[in-house]
Amino acid sequence: MTAGRTYIQRSFTFLGDEGDAQKAGSDETSRQPDGVTLFGPPQPAMEDGQLSFLAPPPGNGSSAIAAADSAAGEPALAWDSLDDLALAVAGCTACRLRGGCTQVVFGEGDPRAMVMFVGEGPGETEDQLGRPFVGRAGQLLDRILTASGFERGEVYIANVVKCRPPGNRQPSPEEAEACLPWLRAQIRLIRPRLVVCLGAAATGILIDPRLRITSARGKWHERNGLRYMPTFHPAALLRDPSKKRAVWEDMKNVRAEYERLRGR
Ligand code: SF4
Repeated sequence: MTAGRTYIQRSFTFLGDEGDAQKAGSDETSRQPDGVTLFGPPQPAMEDGQLSFLAPPPGNGSSAIAAADSAAGEPALAWDSLDDLALAVAGCTACRLRGGCTQVVFGEGDPRAMVMFVGEGPGETEDQLGRPFVGRAGQLLDRILTASGFERGEVYIANVVKCRPPGNRQPSPEEAEACLPWLRAQIRLIRPRLVVCLGAAATGILIDPRLRITSARGKWHERNGLRYMPTFHPAALLRDPSKKRAVWEDMKNVRAEYERLRGR
């Protein structure tokens, strides 16, 4: 039996005990109630052109995206590698979040990862260490990855916003939009086949702001040749362990698709 199939025989109970709910606290953001649309009133879903841009646009996300819309085809990125992009993001002051955080948390993982995970924003621990998902929610994500047959180092992990919102509040629509070009550039450089949206923020900004995480999760959503799987944010599992079963089912789905893409 391959390692990739072994995980299916496990139970979602590997995700921890019910006491996690009391321990959920100040790490990773994602404080939104389930099913709440984060990004304002309903808007049209993103089209192909909106996933492209020519140059570092933060500070004027809307106009940059609009400019990209008018561009024919897929314009070249201004950065050749994730390292180059990370340097650019480290100097970003495009929204007010930079003024209140310790450092930019760019993301980490395999730069050629087939599967990418996108959360909401850095929490306190992430802000201190400069790494995504290393607090309690991150530790739970590690357990989810392991149980699903993934090593943390073989996927890529990032967030919608790269700077910690004060008090771990949700990023505002303006902050999320200001940071979105960085996330899009990450996705274009990594070129994952599958993107797991951890929570409503990533689901709204990457798939459709009208989606509710409770109804969107567990289903594949295709956008511009990429397949997105929304599921609950690990912080939501810490607050409500009853969601663990749903995440387990979603991750089995992700793993099965990963195996299919790899021809196993
Ligand atoms: S959150 Fe994003 S857009 Fe705002 S300052 Fe940080 S890197 Fe720039």
